[in-house]
Amino acid sequence: MDLKTVILLLAVGSFLFGLLLLVFKFNKKDPQEVPFWIVAKLLQAAGSMMLYYRTDTFDILTIIANIALLSGCAYEAWAIRVLTGHPVKRRLHVTTAVGIILVCSFTVFLDMPYRTGVVFLLQSLFYFLPGYYLFVKSGKRFSLQLILAVCYCVTGSIFLTGAVSCLFFPKTAVNMAEKPISGMIPGASFYLFLVSGFIMLMLAKERSDIKVQEIQKTLKKSESRFQQIVETAIEGILIFDNRYRITFANKNMASMLGYTVEEMIGRSYVSFFPESHLDVYYQQESLRKKGADSVYECCLLRKDGNRHWFLISAKAILDDFGGFDGSFAMLTDINERKEMERLLEESNRLLTELSNMDSLTGIANRRRFDAVLEHEYSRLRHSNSKLSIILFDIDHFKEYNDYYGHVMGDVVLRRIGEVLAQSIRSADLAARYGGEEFACILPDTDINNAVSIAERIRQRIQDLKIEHKKSPVSDYVTASFGVATVQYSPETTLDEIVNIADRLLYKAKTAGRNRTEYAWEKKDRYPVSS
Ligand code: GH3
Ligand code: MG
Ligand code: MG
Repeated sequence: MDLKTVILLLAVGSFLFGLLLLVFKFNKKDPQEVPFWIVAKLLQAAGSMMLYYRTDTFDILTIIANIALLSGCAYEAWAIRVLTGHPVKRRLHVTTAVGIILVCSFTVFLDMPYRTGVVFLLQSLFYFLPGYYLFVKSGKRFSLQLILAVCYCVTGSIFLTGAVSCLFFPKTAVNMAEKPISGMIPGASFYLFLVSGFIMLMLAKERSDIKVQEIQKTLKKSESRFQQIVETAIEGILIFDNRYRITFANKNMASMLGYTVEEMIGRSYVSFFPESHLDVYYQQESLRKKGADSVYECCLLRKDGNRHWFLISAKAILDDFGGFDGSFAMLTDINERKEMERLLEESNRLLTELSNMDSLTGIANRRRFDAVLEHEYSRLRHSNSKLSIILFDIDHFKEYNDYYGHVMGDVVLRRIGEVLAQSIRSADLAARYGGEEFACILPDTDINNAVSIAERIRQRIQDLKIEHKKSPVSDYVTASFGVATVQYSPETTLDEIVNIADRLLYKAKTAGRNRTEYAWEKKDRYPVSS
C-alpha cells in the first residue's frame, strides 16, 4: 500500500468511526459517550482527507489539514484522559487548539523537511500523552489499558524518530523519504487507528458498565434510606396512583386508621372520607390533577368508623410529559388538637350562654335583652316592620316575700319564668329584666298580637294559682303588663322604647294591677288605651 492509500483509508475509517460514535451517543436505550472522542475522529477524518489531496504540494490547505489532524490527535488524548478518570478543563483543550493553530501557521516560514519535523514532533507528543495516561492508570499491570499505552508509545516513538531526523539530520531525512522506513509512519498510524479504536471501545463499555453499577448501588442505598425514613416517621405516608388508589402506606399511617398496611393497599382514597367531607376530597383531587400541591386539614374514617383528624400535605406526581401520574401525601395526626379546639369552642359557647342567662329562672338576662333589643331595632331601619316589647312586674311581691319567705319567692320567680318561656314564639325573646320584673321582645309583631301574647302570659300566671294571702288584688299571684309597639325612627332611642313600656306598666299598677296597658306609635305620639 502506498502512502496516499493509507491516508485515504485513515480518512474513511476515522469518518466511519466518528459516525459510529454518534450513533452510540444518541442511542436512547443505552447512551454511551466519551467527551472529545467524536470531535477527535471527525477532525482526524477531515485532516486525513485534505492531506490525501495535498501529499505532493504545500499550501494553505496543507496547513489546515495539519491543524485538523493534530487537533484530532490532541482531542483523542483528552478523550483518553477522561476515560482514565481525569477531568479535562475547558482552558486546557482550548489552549491546545490555539497552540496547534499557531505552530502549524508558523511552518509557512520553514523549509522541508523542518516543516514535517515540527508537525511530527507535535504528533509524537499527542501520542505519548495518552500512552502516559493509560500507563499510569493501568498500574503497570497487564490490561487493556497497558496494551493501548504501548501502542500509543510505539507510534509516538516512530513520530519522534521522524521528527528528530527531519530537524537534526535533514539530509538523511530527505534520503530516507525514498526508503521503506518512511512508510512506517502512515503504517503505524493506520495500525494504531485499528487497535486503539477497538480497545477504546472496550474501555468505554467497561467505563459505562462501572457507571451503571455505581448508579445501581447509589439507588439501592437511597432506596433503603428512604424505606428507613418512611418506616420511622411519626407522620403517615400515602402514595396514590393516577386513579387515587393507595399504592403505598407506611405502618404508622395504617395503625392510625386502625388497618394493616396490606388492608390499605389498593383501597381508594375517597373511601376514607366521611360524607360531610367529600367536597374536600373532590376539591383536592382536582387540584392534584392540575399539578398543584397543597396543605389542608381533614378528617378520615378509621376502620372502627370513628373520625380522625389529620393535617395533610399533598404533592402531585407528574409523568415525563407533565401529566398527572398520582400523588404523595404526608399526614400529621392532629386529632388531639382538634378535640381540644372542639372542647374550647363548646366551653366558649357555654360561657357566652351563661353570661347571657339569668341563673335563677334559666331565661335570658338583662344583658341579653339589651343586645337583642338593639339588634332587632336596627333591623327595623331597613324594613317597614314593627317591633313590640312587653314589660311585666309581679304584683305585691314584697308582701309575698315577707309572708312566705325569700325561698318561696324564688320558686315563684322560677315558675313565672317557665310560663313566660312557654308562652312566646321561637323568634321572640323572654328575659328577666331585674328583680321581679320580666320582659319580652317580639319582632315583626303589631300591637294586637303583642297584647294578646301579654294577656296569654297574664292569664297563665293567674292559672298557676300560686296562693298569695297578702295580695289585695287576688287570692293568687298576679302580674301587671305594659306593652309598646314601635317602628324605626332615628329620634327614638332604645331607652325611650323601654321607658314607654315601663310607663304603661306603671299605669297598669296604678289602674289596679293584674292588667295590661298598651300603646302603639303613631307619628310622634303614643296613644294609650286599656
Ligand atoms: P308592686 O305591686 O307595686 O310591684 O309591689 P311590689 O311589692 O312587687 O314592689 P316592690 O318594688 O316594693 O318590691 C319588689 C320585691 O321583689 C322586693 C324584693 O324583695 C323582691 N325581689 C326582687 N328580686 C328578688 C329575688 O331575686 N328573689 C326574691 N325572692 N325576691 C325578690
Ligand atoms: Mg312588683
Ligand atoms: Mg318591681
